[in-house]
Amino acid sequence: MALPRLVLLGKQGAGKGTQATRLGDHFGVAHLSTGDLFRSMAAMGTAHGLEAKRYMDDGELVPDELTIGIVEECLAPGGPLSDGFVLDGFPRNLRLAQELDGILDGRPLDLAINLDVPRDIVLDRLAGRRVCENCQRVYHVNMPPTVDWTCDTCGGKVVQRDDDTEEAIDRRLQLYEEQTVPIIDYYRQREMLTEVSGVGDGDEVFKRLVTAVDGAHRCK
Ligand SMILES: [Zn+2]
Repeated sequence: MALPRLVLLGKQGAGKGTQATRLGDHFGVAHLSTGDLFRSMAAMGTAHGLEAKRYMDDGELVPDELTIGIVEECLAPGGPLSDGFVLDGFPRNLRLAQELDGILDGRPLDLAINLDVPRDIVLDRLAGRRVCENCQRVYHVNMPPTVDWTCDTCGGKVVQRDDDTEEAIDRRLQLYEEQTVPIIDYYRQREMLTEVSGVGDGDEVFKRLVTAVDGAHRCK
């Protein structure tokens, strides 16, 4: 049986990155964020990869056109996504979802998973987050460092980042929803979407995801 081709969608704070890594390991496929794709193509020295690197070095968003070019390179034979994959954070808008389908023409996605966590829970997770200024280790107000907001790993100061205030998080979630609802609708109409609850223990959530993938994959 061919290896699964998956898209994992979910809000910031839904645990998407962690679960994408676990799914990739479990199914023996590459689990890559868009940033990883850019970096891997830049490291291979492809024209698209080097152009994307320039945008990233300047702290700018890599344009859709270039992003899709890179995804196409990664999906080509010998590329990091040529067999199975878990895409994390891609597609980031409806246009890219449609482009991806075009590229995958011969062998479409097995499943797009929406890892669903209600907004108030995500808000609570993110607003309680504290980060070491020095090594970036992440803590939570409910699980602080042992000694007075001093990093257990490096002794650095553990703080709330400027973009982790409730207002800033709320704005990011709003923006995410505006961009993602059309993607979710698109996959739903094409009967490629599964909703999986991301609430609760990480191991439980992972089991739900594996069950969803196994179910969809067997139908092929
Ligand atoms: Zn630290």
